[in-house]
Amino acid sequence: MFQKILIANRGEIAVRIIRACKQMGVETVAIYSEADRSALHVQLADEAVCVGGNKSSESYLNMENIITAAVSTGAEAIHPGFGFLSENAAFAELCIECGIRFIGPKADAISNMGNKSKAREMMIAAGVPVVPGSDGAVATLSEAKTLADQIGYPVLIKASAGGGGRGMRIAYSPDDFARAFETAKSEAKIAFGDDTMYLEKYLLHPKHIEFQIIADKYGNVVHLGERDCSIQRRNQKVIEEAPSLISSKLRDAMGEAAVKAARTVGYENAGTIEFLVSGDAFYFIEMNTRIQVEHPVTEMVTGIDIIQEQIKIASGEELSFQQDDVRLQGHSIEVRVNAENPKENFRPSPGTVKLLHVPNGHGIRFDSFIYTGYQIPPYYDSMMGKLIVHANSRNEAIRKMIASLDELIIDGVDNNREFCLKILENDEYQRGEFDTGFIVRHLESLLGYDSHE
Ligand code: ADP
Repeated sequence: MFQKILIANRGEIAVRIIRACKQMGVETVAIYSEADRSALHVQLADEAVCVGGNKSSESYLNMENIITAAVSTGAEAIHPGFGFLSENAAFAELCIECGIRFIGPKADAISNMGNKSKAREMMIAAGVPVVPGSDGAVATLSEAKTLADQIGYPVLIKASAGGGGRGMRIAYSPDDFARAFETAKSEAKIAFGDDTMYLEKYLLHPKHIEFQIIADKYGNVVHLGERDCSIQRRNQKVIEEAPSLISSKLRDAMGEAAVKAARTVGYENAGTIEFLVSGDAFYFIEMNTRIQVEHPVTEMVTGIDIIQEQIKIASGEELSFQQDDVRLQGHSIEVRVNAENPKENFRPSPGTVKLLHVPNGHGIRFDSFIYTGYQIPPYYDSMMGKLIVHANSRNEAIRKMIASLDELIIDGVDNNREFCLKILENDEYQRGEFDTGFIVRHLESLLGYDSHE
């Protein structure tokens, strides 16, 4: 086992990883930007190194400074968390070149799956169902248009390098296509420096269901069941739960496909295979080659600490369980608590936390990094934490989440607590009748609460 790990991240995931390390008796090195000098992850780690300025490009994306921090503190491994450098194959490679273990998959798995059109091609070759669309990337507008006409509208134009819900455009009709294609392409060029595009049929009312994969260096690949992440705003997840409401037959088929997908790319460590589900049909959309924001709901229903597993796998341990040992127990829901004002088009609202009160009790968990008096810097994303509950049944989990959100107080910072409460209280949500279009369909009623401020 490693003696010391550097955590190349900030916010709640850095705190989450530091806690896992402490429980395993592993020393930790935090990195931070100037704006994060007083951040919780810096306070909790055994050592902390400032790696640069406020902008992510100067600090959390600064590969040279991060590697230097690891070498100079004697850290044997780097955990990248999610976002930042977590899906950067060059960084994974650089770690290895510098004699540091990267807690994640090998660089070639990251680059193969990070290119979404390539991932699609590989899945087609492996017999994993994908959304009807182009075989891989489309080279020209006219080729794309011809294909779109064959696929049938609406068509989704996606950037191969896309992520975080960005780099996508829907073309509703042939007349729309050229403009949507060119807009998506130029957006992708600016956002990702890569304007390779591919096409998928735009599915109406799908559910987003993803499988957690865990794989060791010895070819053992196991899935830890699925999460329903259909409650989304602008293709970004807001509420996630495990398990989903699919039949056990569909779960088995999807789980098998997810394991096959991971094997196809020689996957190692934790990863997620994302599918869209429409009726009984399921389609691969992408693989995320890192820990996900929503991993806690899987931990709650399986009893497996996924971060600790990641660290054990990277240190060379064999998985201590097989597929048959994985049992899903009860139901778990996670709400992403964001510093934003839903009533002002979800405008990010960094500020100072004047008072924090966190709900507590059996099966209630708050993965966060904020504290009373903490000033949220404006430079990073707006997620302040994740409220997670676990109960015997979905109905009980919903009630527990409502009670917990009711109790949560984050004074001084606009947030989406009431908006999420409205989702949890919605009849259709409670009946399990929801898909990725839920928030858009119900937006008006979900915003129908009185603000406290
Ligand atoms: P990103 O990498 O940006 O997260 P994904 O490909 O994972 O993009 O898709 C994010 C979300 O966009 C999905 O969860 C779903 O809500 C929507 N989406 C993606 N592909 C399709 C599709 N073919 N049809 C309908 N919705 C889609």
